[in-house]
Amino acid sequence: MAFIDAEAAGKQDYDVIVVGSGAGGGQMAYTLAMSGVRVLMLEAGRKYDPASETAMFQTPEMAPLRGVGTPDKPLGFYDATIGGWQLPGEPFVSASEKEGERFQWWRARMLGGRTNHWTRYSFRNGPYDFKPRSRDGLGFDWPIAYADMAPYYDKVEMLVGVYGSNDGLENTPDSPDGCLLPPPKPIVSDLLIRKHGAKLGLPVVASRRAVLTQPLDWKSLPAKLHPGSASAQDILARDMRKRSPCFWATPCGQGCSIRANYQSPTVHLPPALETGKLDIVTDAMVAEVLLAKNGRASGVRFVDKRSGRSREARARAVVLAASAYETVRILLNSRSAKFPQGLANSSGKVGKYLTDTVGSYLAGQIPRLENLPAHNEEGASGGHMYVPWWGYKAQKAGKLPFARGYHIEFFGGRRMPSFYTNAGLEWLTGGSYGRKLKEDARRYYGSMVYFAGRGEMIPNEHTYCEIDPNVVDTYGIPVLRFHARFSEHEINQAKHMQETFREIIHEMGGTPMSSMPSKEALYGLEPVGRIIHEVGTTRMGSDPRTSVLNANCQAHDVKNLFVADAGPFVSNAHKNCTWTILALAMRTAEGIAQQRNQGTL
Ligand SMILES: Cc1cc2nc3c(=O)[nH]c(=O)nc-3n(C[C@H](O)[C@H](O)[C@H](O)COP(=O)(O)OP(=O)(O)OC[C@H]3O[C@@H](n4cnc5c(N)ncnc54)[C@H](O)[C@@H]3O)c2cc1C
Ligand code: SF4
Repeated sequence: MAFIDAEAAGKQDYDVIVVGSGAGGGQMAYTLAMSGVRVLMLEAGRKYDPASETAMFQTPEMAPLRGVGTPDKPLGFYDATIGGWQLPGEPFVSASEKEGERFQWWRARMLGGRTNHWTRYSFRNGPYDFKPRSRDGLGFDWPIAYADMAPYYDKVEMLVGVYGSNDGLENTPDSPDGCLLPPPKPIVSDLLIRKHGAKLGLPVVASRRAVLTQPLDWKSLPAKLHPGSASAQDILARDMRKRSPCFWATPCGQGCSIRANYQSPTVHLPPALETGKLDIVTDAMVAEVLLAKNGRASGVRFVDKRSGRSREARARAVVLAASAYETVRILLNSRSAKFPQGLANSSGKVGKYLTDTVGSYLAGQIPRLENLPAHNEEGASGGHMYVPWWGYKAQKAGKLPFARGYHIEFFGGRRMPSFYTNAGLEWLTGGSYGRKLKEDARRYYGSMVYFAGRGEMIPNEHTYCEIDPNVVDTYGIPVLRFHARFSEHEINQAKHMQETFREIIHEMGGTPMSSMPSKEALYGLEPVGRIIHEVGTTRMGSDPRTSVLNANCQAHDVKNLFVADAGPFVSNAHKNCTWTILALAMRTAEGIAQQRNQGTL
């Protein structure tokens, strides 16, 4: 089994069809294939090989426009994403363009989806994050608890590789021995932020990112991950040996040809293909799930983008992992006499309770970091340290004007010049040229620090997606229309972020790059969708009247239909969502494999 064409896929019977090859789809296909389950993966994007396509060793002067963003490559030449804020031929509709109601959507159309770019922050949700309503009466509780998820976080950490430290902080779970790789050394600006952050009571600790800081322990991890399967252990051990640790040289957002960070096509798909149990069809745009007369999913209909032909594929079970909102689109476009308002939607909740992360930014200039001696400190090209949410006690005491928390990701250092250019030399110099420009460049290079708040958005009735009645994509498939609104909790949280960033910058003796955003500007709160943490919409729950999936991510209405992206999330903790997507997909996959091996699928 391997990469096959659309016609060949239609001629075979599979155990499971997996739609999408990103974090959820990759993890699902890996776990199923390693358990002996026959899988067909359908991916709307093109085949993509990070080993041969990543421009890792091309420095900015070799790149078009020195690598800066363009309309068709918004994050610049080096960004691994094939896709972006707009996809040719695949529109979506934002129901409002008003401040606070505008919606943005970043999509990737490629093997591995958005895992080829993501920033690789990899945090576990904590115990509070699964039971938020029980704590503050807002939003909803998950039907599962941290204890249900902890073993899967452990296994994902061992399989994928993540650096970090155990700090014993509230609702910020430690990992058992053997799960974490050592974190990279703090860079100069990290040390300064840690020193001055401590004066403000902020914990500054090692970040957690899915980047290998040393080789994975291929001798012992495979047996822990696949007890009882010598062949799976053997495949994984061989594959782990092919992954090199980070050599601290190139931005992760462009992908990693040495397989040092997590991308689905470098971590999940190679061993899954090696089992011989996985077939992959790329350029396969799934339009709907097909329903048999017995009320079970029988397969999917998809458009073969190369020929433009509509095709069908069959399996005993269907797993949607197209990303939380795309999965809604597939379900709502799968209408039948039994499900006139969309498949698995008897509750009317498909598309509801959509959330993103609360995001706000601030940059500052720190004179103490000027004129540093030349040194290379690019490191793992993303945060080596971060500030976990520290306000649980103040919140409990009623001292904060918002519910839930946020963490702070921060960046500094002396990276390739695009970073410096982005810092805005003119703002510091008032404009200079010739010898003075060179002096200014040497003086200010590396003296900027950037703070990004990442907070929890509470699901609300006004933020959801539905099928737009008028617009279809280039394949004739109806598209999504998005409605977005923030509550006072998110707006006040953004204000708190801005105030905190300013306090840190002042404490460091620096100057914020911009003034405090106004209430009308929502204190710099980014639009819903902007932070690209696509969550909610097919939430899990124990009551079929108010949820789409049960606690095993299985549709209440259609027993052989599952969801493996962030759609099942009931809340969107400030911890970036991908680590929980992976852990939940692994848990769901193990349940499916068990059913298949017991003959009950
Ligand atoms: C710039 C950036 C930075 C990020 N940083 C972080 C971070 O630091 N930490 C974190 O946790 N998360 C981060 N994320 C988010 C992370 O990338 C996503 O959470 C994760 O990739 C979601 O996985 P997924 O499988 O649900 O969707 P995706 O990775 O988007 O994969 C979905 C796949 O399904 C395919 N698909 C869609 N529709 C169909 C269809 N109809 N038929 C067939 N295939 C279909 C898509 O083409 C895509 O390949 C970041 C994202 C971006 C873009
Ligand atoms: S920083 Fe390390 S993990 Fe990231 S792309 Fe470069 S080598 Fe790979």
